[in-house]
Amino acid sequence: MKVGVLALQGAFREHAEALGALGAEAALVRRPEHLGGLDAIVLPGGESTTIDKLLDTSGLRAPLTGLLRGGLPLLATCAGLIVCAREIVDGRPDQRPLGVIDATVRRNGYGRQRESFEADLEVRALAGGPFRGVFIRAPVVERVGPAVEVLARHEGVPVLGREGPAWFASFHPELAGDLRVHEAFLHEVS
Ligand code: GLN
Repeated sequence: MKVGVLALQGAFREHAEALGALGAEAALVRRPEHLGGLDAIVLPGGESTTIDKLLDTSGLRAPLTGLLRGGLPLLATCAGLIVCAREIVDGRPDQRPLGVIDATVRRNGYGRQRESFEADLEVRALAGGPFRGVFIRAPVVERVGPAVEVLARHEGVPVLGREGPAWFASFHPELAGDLRVHEAFLHEVS
């Protein structure tokens, strides 16, 4: 499997390492020509406003949106989720989400005291006990559409889910030292 990792900014190396450890070929995506022949793509955490700008300067916005609308399997984490959501609350005014996951997210919604925290998550259909969720200035998922299947919640709020082949996490599964979320994603899309 060849899995693209959007490598404009953020935690793309950690995702590429996780995918490589699971036997997938991770391809860093920085320009439109890097989108060819992908079986899936990961949009990493980082800073969504920066990624938003770089999607335009790199020329990736339109071709990436087209592939995602066409059903290219997606794993979007943290800032990646903000970039892919239908609607952003508290985003930068000129930030334009791709709108490929039917969710409303509040950017930096966990607030100052809890900007970063860890929590054990009970993940539906993941064997082997709780998954350690690493939340770094994470978005709060305030609404999900009817087609979204929620796979884990933290204090009632969805933190992991999928809308068909588009998976999202508001935490950083690539920083947990636990490959089970990536493994489940790859298993589903292969
Ligand atoms: N707060 C960041 C943003 O707005 C997301 C943080 C992250 O990806 N860890 O993009």
